[in-house]
Amino acid sequence: MPTCQNCGKKWSWFDSIKKLLTFRKSMKCNHCGKIQYQSVSSRNTISLIVLLPIITIPFTVMFDLSLFSVLLLEIALILVALFVMPLFLKLTNNEEPLW
Ligand SMILES: [Zn+2]
Repeated sequence: MPTCQNCGKKWSWFDSIKKLLTFRKSMKCNHCGKIQYQSVSSRNTISLIVLLPIITIPFTVMFDLSLFSVLLLEIALILVALFVMPLFLKLTNNEEPLW
């Protein structure tokens, strides 16, 4: 779970997912109210996780799965992605340049 770099308190899974899903660069800590930013490495990891359900679509075509199985698989992958996203969230006090 992410830890606030200002007050050192951990963010809960629910808080983290809520902040991640707003896709804003800055996230306010619920404990101290200080603005935190997502670190670049964490941003890269999370984009990969988000891409996972999309990347698997060609494979489902290759295996000739039925539309229902594909949908089920995609929903499962999206749920897994949502579940693990906060685990890879790392916070910094200053905004890091993307590149
Ligand atoms: Zn804090």
